[in-house]
Amino acid sequence: MQMSSNHRIALAIVLTCAAAAAPSAQKPADTAAPADRQYLLERVDDASVVQLYADGFAALPVREKTLIWHLYQAALAGRDIFYDQKHASALEMRDVLEAIVASPDGVPADTLKEIQRYTKLFWINNGPYNNLTARKFVLKLTHEQFGSAAKTAARNGATFPARAGESLDALLARLEPMFFDPNVDPIVTNKNPPAGKDILLASANNLYSGVGMDDLKGFEEKYGLNSRLVKRDGRLVEEVYRIGGRYDAQISNVVKHLEAAVPYATEPMANALRALIQFYRTGETADRVKYDIAWVQDRNSPVDTINGFIEVYLDPRGIKGGWEALVFYVNKEKTERIRRMANAAQWFEDHMPWNPKYRKSDVKGIIANAIDVVVETGDSGPVTPIGINLPNDQAIREAHGSKSVSLSNVIEANDKATPTTMRSEFAWSPDEAARAQKWAAFAGELHTDMHEVIGHASGRSAESLKVSPQEAIKEHFSALEEGRADLVGLYFIADPKLAELNVLPAGSQEEIARAEYEAYTRQALVQLRRVRDRDEIEEDHMRNRQMIVGWLMANTKAIEVRQRAGKTYYSMVNAKAFREGVGRLLAEVQRIKSEGDYQAAAKLFETYGVRFDPKLRDQVVARVDKLNLSSYSGFVMPKLTPVTDATGNITDVSISYPRDLTTQMLEYSGKKKKEAPTAR
Ligand SMILES: [Zn+2]
Repeated sequence: MQMSSNHRIALAIVLTCAAAAAPSAQKPADTAAPADRQYLLERVDDASVVQLYADGFAALPVREKTLIWHLYQAALAGRDIFYDQKHASALEMRDVLEAIVASPDGVPADTLKEIQRYTKLFWINNGPYNNLTARKFVLKLTHEQFGSAAKTAARNGATFPARAGESLDALLARLEPMFFDPNVDPIVTNKNPPAGKDILLASANNLYSGVGMDDLKGFEEKYGLNSRLVKRDGRLVEEVYRIGGRYDAQISNVVKHLEAAVPYATEPMANALRALIQFYRTGETADRVKYDIAWVQDRNSPVDTINGFIEVYLDPRGIKGGWEALVFYVNKEKTERIRRMANAAQWFEDHMPWNPKYRKSDVKGIIANAIDVVVETGDSGPVTPIGINLPNDQAIREAHGSKSVSLSNVIEANDKATPTTMRSEFAWSPDEAARAQKWAAFAGELHTDMHEVIGHASGRSAESLKVSPQEAIKEHFSALEEGRADLVGLYFIADPKLAELNVLPAGSQEEIARAEYEAYTRQALVQLRRVRDRDEIEEDHMRNRQMIVGWLMANTKAIEVRQRAGKTYYSMVNAKAFREGVGRLLAEVQRIKSEGDYQAAAKLFETYGVRFDPKLRDQVVARVDKLNLSSYSGFVMPKLTPVTDATGNITDVSISYPRDLTTQMLEYSGKKKKEAPTAR
């Protein structure tokens, strides 16, 4: 049991604290984007579809562009793995949907519109479950309408994923409960099922098949991170994700492209890629450890990738990794600012407001890059995090450090796609709204950086704790760890050390910290809009924020809940009290982690982090709906195209922006959108 928690910041967090106007000094002139270009492409229910731009790509040396091209193909080669991990029927469902969407001539307009809506949500979420609520969404059609649309597409020449000897009718009948019945496999990851229900059996994902927690008693799991657990003839079997194992076809293809990338990589990066290839071949934990170490030791390469079974959010046990890939290059200007903080990591560690025995005496290997993403697939796309800290393996983190990245172009695209009305609606005063307008984007990005760079990397376990903190704290670990990292950022954003490090202007620090505290507080209210269909918070980052703000309300005088004209406001009224409270809570959260105090973690989240007033949520939803804001975003990725000479050698790689989700997704699946009716 080596895997640690998840070290990723969800994009959802910046949706409201992000201001459209960042201080102009942040924006180097040579990468400035055209002012009129399109970020927000369309809305699908409560999701925005946003185009991601990678402005620095074109200026990279050809060698780096070629490297990125191969890594990009490796990222696309594995994307189906995550669909299959989400649900055993997800790939078949996607094939059915894409067959109709790609060949729709003759499908009634209303029917097609609904199929397109559902299909877009399906693509954005990598399957039929909302990534924020974990709940299933369904097609709002009759079976007859859907069946008739499928038959029309079949007549247009579309092929369907029928099994040998299976008719189209039989295929649709088999998948019908998944498309139409909200009560069949309703929740993809259910960490809090009703009393007496099993967390694995109550979760619809495909990381386990027929396996409950009871089956695991006394079972020695050899491939915790990279296997599907299946009950076969009453016995547990680990289906290992590797070449020759489960996902052989996809993984073999990923490896082929990784091998093509190696010659273009720097030596440290080539080492990491070779180690990753070896891990994909064997699936052995020892090889995964070698890969993690090689990856974390590659500190200075201008291009990097994350590719593999990484984060464990999909698994209610927090053990099995969802497949994902990201390919990115370093944004040099923003990285410089982060590096100044990373270099001072020991100073921050020495000033953590917790018991000195839980401070590390040698914080090392903390590295942080601001990056621009070229492509994200699987567990990290189209819905993407904004910050990542890896590897997750606690033992490797302690011995070799970790790498942090802040996804600059994702944050920027999201800012540009978010209307400014969001802040004014939930700000108590014009002053607060103005502060947000001026500083919230800057403060939010700075907080994210601190969360990753000095937050997750900090602290140590008690001598008496014999297991890893995540084993001790179980289902509350992820939310606790995210809360800990957030608290570190909130605590130090008001510290003069930041001005001394020149990461912010000293004269504005008070205002910046205040803007961040206000935004963080507002967000605990505004985030309720994302749990429309249930009365508990499931997602870890949302839980941690709810817990922090709830705790501060109950234990300090920093926040007031105010009413005006039937509207509720969470108003941060005392920044000094806020910071003092953050310090106290952080000391306790660190103690819980260091000592593995499960009871205290459970109490903290059950008291402050899970439940909320549904009436308040309804009010927030009504206010947000009036503003027509989205709850989350799915990104259309840049598209790469190699330029070759007469002999087929790559001489350059061009980048373009599809600006259309359907076009990109059908292209990823090797299908093409047929725009005009065919003559036949
Ligand atoms: Zn995190």
